[in-house]
Formats: sequence, structure tokens, C-alpha cells
Amino acid sequence: MKKTLALSIAGQRHSQGGHTYYKDSIVVDMTAYRRVLAFDPEQKKIRIQAGATWQDVQDYVNAYGLAVKTMQSQNIFTIGGSLSVNAHGRDIRNGSLIKRVESFRLLVADGRILNVSRTENADLFPLAIGGYGLFGIILDVTLSLTDNEMYRIAIDHVDVESYSRYFAEKVKGNPDVRLHIARISVAPAHFLTEMYAINYLSDPSVPLEGHDRLKTRETGVIPTKIMFNLNRSFGWGKDTLWSLQKRYFAKQQGMLVTRNNAMRSESAFMAYRQAGRNDLLQEYFVPVQEFAGFVDDFRSVLQNEKLNLLNITVRYVNHDEEATLSYAKEDMFALVCLFNVPLSQQGQAEAQSGIQNVLDRVIAHRGTYYLPYAAYPRLDQFRAAYPKQAAFFQKKEQYDPNHLFMNYFYTDYKGG
Ligand SMILES: Cc1cc2nc3c(=O)[nH]c(=O)nc-3n(C[C@H](O)[C@H](O)[C@H](O)COP(=O)(O)OP(=O)(O)OC[C@H]3O[C@@H](n4cnc5c(N)ncnc54)[C@H](O)[C@@H]3O)c2cc1C
Repeated sequence: MKKTLALSIAGQRHSQGGHTYYKDSIVVDMTAYRRVLAFDPEQKKIRIQAGATWQDVQDYVNAYGLAVKTMQSQNIFTIGGSLSVNAHGRDIRNGSLIKRVESFRLLVADGRILNVSRTENADLFPLAIGGYGLFGIILDVTLSLTDNEMYRIAIDHVDVESYSRYFAEKVKGNPDVRLHIARISVAPAHFLTEMYAINYLSDPSVPLEGHDRLKTRETGVIPTKIMFNLNRSFGWGKDTLWSLQKRYFAKQQGMLVTRNNAMRSESAFMAYRQAGRNDLLQEYFVPVQEFAGFVDDFRSVLQNEKLNLLNITVRYVNHDEEATLSYAKEDMFALVCLFNVPLSQQGQAEAQSGIQNVLDRVIAHRGTYYLPYAAYPRLDQFRAAYPKQAAFFQKKEQYDPNHLFMNYFYTDYKGG
């Protein structure tokens, strides 16, 4: 039988659910494709090849006093991979990445290169952004930028019950807050009750000059790695890490940092190699008003499941349904959860069933989940979380009838 060619597209390959490969396909590795093609500091715009990372963008624009508007909490991801998942991060006003994309060029299945924007080939704009590489290869992207600014860090101790109100009054209600992230304790002593909210407030009284050197090295990687390993293995390790984090937060209070450096957060301590186990992310979006109720349900599920939860961070993503597979059906809190899971067949089955139980609660609270992670969710859960999925897969057939662009996300969730 004649085999048809299939391509899967890869950036930095941090997605975790077979999104960048497919059986017998050719992997198109975009990472060498990273030049800046055009830059207009006056208009605050950059056109850059899709294999470039956010770090490449920051390295380029920092000298002009400019910064990225929306990206993940780390700068290690490619622009093409970030568009294809429609990323979000800590900027509370910029929301999903789609909002900050002006246009891109897309190499489609019939070999044409199309300019895609809200006015040109507009049908493809909300499909390819958040399209997981199924509509073609994003070649280069025009992004709008913002000013690099000085921020002062302000950290508050809060709790799960009052977080939504705290956020509305003290974070969203304060025009000076630019970036925000919160952490929920996974320590047995304060399990899913205690929180820290970390806010970055604009401080125009401090000049950028003298502060605007880009951070190039992560500090304290080895001790943090050791602590994080204890957090993986023992309840007392989780308690100790949480109390050390509290001390670290106290030390950070009032510190100054530029936007570009605040958006270069640290990840080297998370590198982990252990035969038979892995750390895996899952991310749940719940409407702002549902937060405390969902966390209560989440706590009860976790008390009955064999899931080793290592860390939860919370971000805010405002309502944005422009992408066909959009996750922000309302103003949402995103709970990014890192689990340590066994890779044995039984361990995987238990992890999958536990995650599916969590997801039932997410959906009961009108929530959604993020698609770049392991394909644990059931098909019916995917369909409930992404009501426009049928239109998405129909358009895939229209634009790519011979399935040139393929990956396991397609086979896992297309359904019959
Ligand atoms: C530690 C960690 C932290 C994370 N934090 C965040 C966060 O704060 N916010 C957030 O939103 N997400 C976060 N993520 C998820 C992350 O944004 C996605 O996994 C993102 O896709 C990674 O970019 P990448 O370059 O590794 O893409 P890849 O994993 O290489 O690719 C992802 C998808 O994009 C497609 N693709 C890649 N390049 C192109 C291209 N040029 N054209 C068309 N399709 C393409 C691939 O086929 C694939 O479907 C995190 C992930 C990890 C592992």
C-alpha cells in the first residue's frame, strides 16, 4: 500500500502529549529558523521567524527599551510553538497570546505560503493559533511589543477562600499591577488552603537605566533542585519547601526588577531524570467565581487518589474566545499543576484515572483544561471543554484533506 507523507512540526518540544510527532512522519524541526526579519521600535513591532524563542525576542528588543506583551512564564519556548498552543502567562491585561498576534505567514498543505491576519485569509487565523500544527507550518510572525518597565515586587499571604475577592480588589482593581502569579501550598500542613500572591507593580519613579541588563544566569539551581527532590519524595519535604518559599517571598518583598527580567523566570531546577518516573504538567481553567469551590473539590479528589502533586501556580487569563480551541470561555484562573507520576502501566493507569476524576470536577465548575499536556483526558471531557472542536476538525479536513500535517493530538481527540 502506498504510504502518504505526513509531517509533524516541532519547536522546543516542551509539549507533552505527542503534539510534535506521529508514526512514520517526518519531523520538521523549526529551531534553526530564528532570524529577526523586521523590527520597528517606533511602532513597537517585530517580525520574527517561528523557531525563535521568547529569549531571542527579549535579547533583541531589550536594548530598545521594549518587551514582550504576552508569553508563558518562562522564555524557553518557540514563537511557533507558543502560537500553536495560544499561550498565556503572567500579564493580567494581555490574556491569551492570540490578542497580541498581528499576522503570520503559513505554509499550507497545498504548498502555498499565505499571509494570515484578521483581514487576510482570516478563516485560518483562529484555527492555526491554538491549532497544534495541524493547519500548516507557521513561518514567521508579526507581534506587537510593549515598553520595558521597572516593577516593584509586592507579595501577599492569602488563602483559597478569599483569593477571588483579593484578586478583584487588590490585583485587577489596581492599575499599577502588571504581572501576577500565585502559589497554592501542596504541603500537608496547609494542603490547598494557604496561598502566596506575587504582584509586579509598575514603578515609574525608578529609571530603567542601570537596571536593564538582562539576567543571564539562574542562581541557586543546585540547592533548589535538592529541595524540589525532597518535595517529590516526602510529605515533610513538601512542608519544608513551603516554609523555605515563605522565607524567599519575604526576601523578595519590595525588590525591583525590569519587565524583561521578571519574564525570564527560572526553570533549570526543574530538570529531572529518574528511571520509571516523570514530572508532568496539567492545567485547569476555572471561572474566577468558581475558584474556591473548585479547589475544595480538587482537595477531596486528591485525598482519594494516588497523585503526587508537587506544585500549583495560579495565573489569570481574561475572557477571549477568538481562537477556535480557546480555553478562556470566561475570565478564568489557570491552575498549573505539576505531578510526579510513575511510568509503569499500572502507575500510568492510576494517574490517568485520577486526572480524569479531577477533570470531571473542573467541567462541573464550567472549567476547561489546557491541551499541550499528556493526553490523559477522555474524549468526552475534551468535547465538553472545547465545544468548537467539531468545527476545528471539519476545517482540518477542508484545509488538509490528505492529512499532511499530523500528530498524536489529532488521533487522540479527533474521535469517530
Ligand atoms: C515547564 C513548562 C512550563 C510551561 N509554562 C507555560 C505557561 O506559563 N503558559 C503557557 O501557556 N504554557 C506553558 N507551557 C506549555 C507550553 O507553552 C507549550 O508546551 C508550548 O507549545 C511549548 O513551546 P515549544 O516551542 O516547546 O512547542 P512544541 O512543543 O515544540 O510544539 C507545540 C505545538 O506547536 C506546534 N508547532 C510548533 N512550531 C510550529 C510552527 N512553526 N508552525 C506550526 N506549528 C508549530 C507543534 O506541532 C505542536 O503541536 C509550559 C510547558 C512546560 C513544559
